[in-house]
Amino acid sequence: MNKKIIVAGLGHGGISAAAILAANGYDVTVYEKKKEGTLGYDWTDIFAPRSLEYAGIPMPPEDKYEYKEDMTFFAPTCEKGLRQHVPEDQLEIKMERRDIYEHLINHALGFGVKIEYECEVLGPIMLGNRVAGIRTSKGDVYGDLVIDACGMNSPVRSNLPEFLGIEKGPDRSEKITIYRAFYNKASDEEVDAKFRIMLFGKGIKGISWVASEDEYTDVLIGRFEDVTKEEIDDFLVWLREKNPRLGTEVVRGGQFVEIPVRQPLSVMVADGYAAIGDSAFMTVPLIGSGIANTLKASKMLADTVIADKNGEFTAKTLWRYQTEYYKKIGAGLAPLACGKKLLLTLTPDEIDYCFSSGMITEDDITMGADFGDMGSLLDGDINDMINKIKTVCKDPNLLKKLLPVVGKISKAVATCAMMPKKWNRERVLAWSKVYSYSFR
Ligand SMILES: Cc1cc2nc3c(=O)[nH]c(=O)nc-3n(C[C@H](O)[C@H](O)[C@H](O)COP(=O)(O)OP(=O)(O)OC[C@H]3O[C@@H](n4cnc5c(N)ncnc54)[C@H](O)[C@@H]3O)c2cc1C
Repeated sequence: MNKKIIVAGLGHGGISAAAILAANGYDVTVYEKKKEGTLGYDWTDIFAPRSLEYAGIPMPPEDKYEYKEDMTFFAPTCEKGLRQHVPEDQLEIKMERRDIYEHLINHALGFGVKIEYECEVLGPIMLGNRVAGIRTSKGDVYGDLVIDACGMNSPVRSNLPEFLGIEKGPDRSEKITIYRAFYNKASDEEVDAKFRIMLFGKGIKGISWVASEDEYTDVLIGRFEDVTKEEIDDFLVWLREKNPRLGTEVVRGGQFVEIPVRQPLSVMVADGYAAIGDSAFMTVPLIGSGIANTLKASKMLADTVIADKNGEFTAKTLWRYQTEYYKKIGAGLAPLACGKKLLLTLTPDEIDYCFSSGMITEDDITMGADFGDMGSLLDGDINDMINKIKTVCKDPNLLKKLLPVVGKISKAVATCAMMPKKWNRERVLAWSKVYSYSFR
């Protein structure tokens, strides 16, 4: 009999893994709380198209995407911009989220994946130590494996029993609140930097962007703490002073959402269970991009499932998925999680100094653009590193903040490298504690 795979939530990684598994003869059903045709948000997303190829998904039709402009990063004073120079073969694409979903869903349906819309997942069903299915608004469903693609606040992950050692959820500092809206164009004034990223704009801890499109201006305001609409409106006034094209009328979006910005989940698997995408915190900790990482993870997960010829789907057989993910992506994200913590301790003046002193360069910003291969961030030119250290040493306060972070980054990298190669419950749980501790 075909093994039955349950995908909880129609996340990007879940539907992509579903496609590969259905193509290989598994009986796969996705349970999604939203209505058919209403998935996603009313705006565009940016991601690396190589991740589609990695997951065996064809490129979307050419009229459905365009290549993203290089971004220009600004320090809090907005005086000095550092522009990316992303090589052509690494350019990311920009696509309407609903079109990405349509593309992934059609691909999966073509292989026989079933989708049950308007079916809310309420939590896991446990049989002994094993996740044996899910509770849903339409009744209980049992299967051989539950793939948890329900996103950051997954009711499956957060209701798993403690003894599995899987973290329940991100705390406040581990998620970013985003306000995103497209505004009308207030003037035809030409802009030299079309896609502007501002760090700690107006001296407030957060990241924002203003992207000047032909017909509208795309605004994103991200904060690492709670933020009200009044505070956003106030910030928009400041943004308009710097970006005269930014109008006052919202033409699309205008919502608040949250994205995880932390290290990946320390234990992603259990007997009968595997988490993917935001449910496993696979986003890039500094900026919250997660589509490329989750698409790549879908291939790693599906390959692991297929390799389990006896269809046991235990933590032991699924562990290969976690080790692969960390080797190829997660180990590169862990230092960035430390970097995000450092960022939150810096003052606007210190960020200005990092930009104006040449400590952060256009090459650094460009390297950060290829989120598909975060491991490359760790390979730096040694002379460049020494120059950076010399620059930091000139500012004692900055040095004081940076030194412990360098220690934490080294610890995070070393801990990732020490992840048990094979599943052993005691060893994995002990490792998970050390790993989580290195981010405190
Ligand atoms: C506003 C915003 C902008 C972003 N922009 C980018 C970007 O430009 N580039 C990029 O790479 N990444 C971006 N991300 C991150 C990216 O969307 C995610 O990292 C990526 O989609 C992986 O998340 P996911 O698919 O696992 O989860 P989600 O996108 O959260 O999807 C989870 C799915 O599960 C469903 N679901 C949730 N709970 C239940 C339930 N109880 N029962 C049934 N179904 C449920 C949801 O309806 C949804 O369909 C953005 C995220 C947000 C929120």
